[in-house]
Amino acid sequence: MEMRNCVKCKRPFTYRGVPICQDCEKDEEKVFDEVRTYIKQHPDVTLAVVSEVTGCSHKKILRWIKEGRIEISQASFGEIACESCGKPITKGRYCEKCVIKINNQVSDTFGKETISTQTKIDSKTGKAKMHIKGRG
Ligand SMILES: [Zn+2]
Ligand SMILES: [Zn+2]
Repeated sequence: MEMRNCVKCKRPFTYRGVPICQDCEKDEEKVFDEVRTYIKQHPDVTLAVVSEVTGCSHKKILRWIKEGRIEISQASFGEIACESCGKPITKGRYCEKCVIKINNQVSDTFGKETISTQTKIDSKTGKAKMHIKGRG
């Protein structure tokens, strides 16, 4: 077993892959709950206010939002931007448009593959024939 000093309270603890001790981890969860509840009850609140009320740092709240653990109802936080286009977002890493764009790129590739596997050689004419649903 490896002993480490908690990065938060500096007390030695048994290391389990997280840099903080169990007590501090519990504290973090408590703060997380507070932050989440507060944002739920005050959907129009700004990051500065949440931080002040809960005593939780901006950085930590933003991390939770990016991880998708907390969802804010509007872009008033103004501090998270879509990693693709820079538009302010309320949750995760990309805005809705970019999520759709990324999904389309994926299905485009899939679509092409489906068509090529459906191209079969016609046994009578010996020519490649496209099999498209609803036609021919
Ligand atoms: Zn600790
Ligand atoms: Zn975007």
